[in-house]
Amino acid sequence: MISIENEQLNNLRVLSRERKAAAILRRMERMRGEGASISTQEFRAHHSRQRRLKLCQVDLHRSQKSCQQLDQDGGHSEPVESWFWPPPPPKPEEEEGERVAEEEEVELEADEQLSILTAYLRQEYRYCLWCGSRYDDHESMAAECPGDNREAHDE
Ligand SMILES: [Zn+2]
Repeated sequence: MISIENEQLNNLRVLSRERKAAAILRRMERMRGEGASISTQEFRAHHSRQRRLKLCQVDLHRSQKSCQQLDQDGGHSEPVESWFWPPPPPKPEEEEGERVAEEEEVELEADEQLSILTAYLRQEYRYCLWCGSRYDDHESMAAECPGDNREAHDE
C-alpha cells in the first residue's frame, strides 16, 4: 500500500517538474524574444511577397507596353489576348457594370500574366524586358540573355 502511494507521489512530482520545466522554457523563450523574431520573420516574408507582387505588376505593365508597340510595329491591330496590351483608360460614359464585367474576364494573377506575356514576347519577337533589347535570333538570345525572369537578371 505504502509503496503504491509513494509511486503516485513520485509520478506527481515528475509531472509537476515537467510542468515547471515547460513553464521555464516558455519564459526563457519569451525573454530571448523568440516570439518577436518569429513575427519579424513573418513580417519580412510578407513584406517581400508584397514587394515581389509589386515588381510583377510593374514588369507586367512594361511588358504590355512593349507588346503593344511590337505588335503594332508588326502590323497587328489587336492583341492576341486582351490583357497582352495595357488596359485602356476607363471611358467616363461607360456603365460601371460593363467595366466590372470586362475586368472579370481576366482571372490570371499578375505573375501568371507576366510569365505568359514574357514567353510570348520572347517567342514572337525575341524580346527580353529585363535586357531591354530584341535579339536577332533565338540562338543569340539564348547565349546573351540570362533567363526569362527578373531574378536571373539581378545576379
Ligand atoms: Zn534578358
